[in-house]
Amino acid sequence: MKPEIKLHDKTFVPFIPYEKIIAAIDQVAEKLNADYKDSEVPPVLLCILNGSIMFTGELMKRLDFNCELISMKVSSYDGTESTGKIRQVMGLTGSLKGKRVIIVEDIVDTGNTIDSLVSIARGEGATDVKVCSMLLKPDVYKKNIPIDYVAMRIPNDFIVGFGLDYNDLGRNYKDIYVLKQ
Ligand code: 5GP
Ligand code: MG
Repeated sequence: MKPEIKLHDKTFVPFIPYEKIIAAIDQVAEKLNADYKDSEVPPVLLCILNGSIMFTGELMKRLDFNCELISMKVSSYDGTESTGKIRQVMGLTGSLKGKRVIIVEDIVDTGNTIDSLVSIARGEGATDVKVCSMLLKPDVYKKNIPIDYVAMRIPNDFIVGFGLDYNDLGRNYKDIYVLKQ
């Protein structure tokens, strides 16, 4: 892990090492394997670009049931603040009609994004919608939608790495870093 990384005007310091992230993903994958092993229709993993790319990749290779992968891209963050407005930047790459959907997100903060995503998935005809997030900020989350699978819970800090960015930089780092105070 680097002692710090600089992205634009901000400095980030180590927060969650890769090994810990992987151990948490192992656990979530185990739960999904138990819950979906007898699924009659192969569920769809709905990867929310770009933040969820690395998490979806690590998660998928641990799943031992048949599943599909569909992606879409939304945006709600501007810098380090959630704007509350969700923009659909790239539509669904496949149909959700009649499918069981597992939304795979990088992080759930206020919950605005996941709220919209669940509505979109239902509106597209998904029969069952579950949420799997790598990270959850429980102190900030204010929606009633259950976050069915969570790998790690963190305080209300702004983090980058393992797919997460600060204004488009930082996604490539395999460890998670937090904004230096
Ligand atoms: P929400 O709509 O739940 O407030 O925010 C969810 C989205 O905001 C996430 O999908 C993610 O893209 C972004 N986000 C929330 N918290 C963080 C954070 O700490 N770091 C980064 N890089 N993005 C975040
Ligand atoms: Mg995201």
